[in-house]
Amino acid sequence: MTIDLWPAPEPATLAVRDSEHRLPVYRLFFVGRNHPAHAREMGVTVDKAQGRPFYFTKSPVHLIGSGATGAYPSETEDFHHEVERVVVLGRGGHRVPLALAHELIYGYAVGLDMTRRDVRLRLRERGHPWCLGKDVEGSAICGAVAPMPGVALERGAITLPVNDSERQRADIADLIWNVRELIADLSRYYHLQPGDVIHTGTPEGVGAVRPSDRPHATIDGVGTVDLTIGPAV
Ligand code: MN
Repeated sequence: MTIDLWPAPEPATLAVRDSEHRLPVYRLFFVGRNHPAHAREMGVTVDKAQGRPFYFTKSPVHLIGSGATGAYPSETEDFHHEVERVVVLGRGGHRVPLALAHELIYGYAVGLDMTRRDVRLRLRERGHPWCLGKDVEGSAICGAVAPMPGVALERGAITLPVNDSERQRADIADLIWNVRELIADLSRYYHLQPGDVIHTGTPEGVGAVRPSDRPHATIDGVGTVDLTIGPAV
């Protein structure tokens, strides 16, 4: 018999809408620059014909559920909201053909990809990895997952008011790479697994939050996610 030296971490799970079930999370993937207007506001143009999507990851320990209070993180003066459509996989696959990619889908949720923007931009200038800007404690907020097995959801209004003021509004139809393209592409690099979670990229209008702000995001037909920004740590 072996004995752990300290308590093993609890696995991250997500709520499932209208259900007692919890969904065990395996990995958190994020697509970068998947909306033309957001790429422009970041000073970049994306030519779909000339490129492929790119990704970064966050540790699943940074995941928090809707309704939580998340601390304002250290080492930033510019902590940003990014609202995103989240796709959760219920089946795995490697080198999945585009025509079959939707079969891996379990469902969808609304997520926030919170970002130390100042740190991220500084790292980008130096050509360094993005971890300190993106892999931030408590920075992946996700609402309940709406089960839609096998459904490639390609439209729906996505909105983010902070307090009562609207900051982001778009439609997921405007994303550069759609959900099937993203799953097929990511599966060329990873053996995708049930519980893999892919944030499919934010529209334009990203901006700063301050302690006590309350971002509240919605995607029509999917659900909502709420966050309260706590005191600075
Ligand atoms: Mn993002």
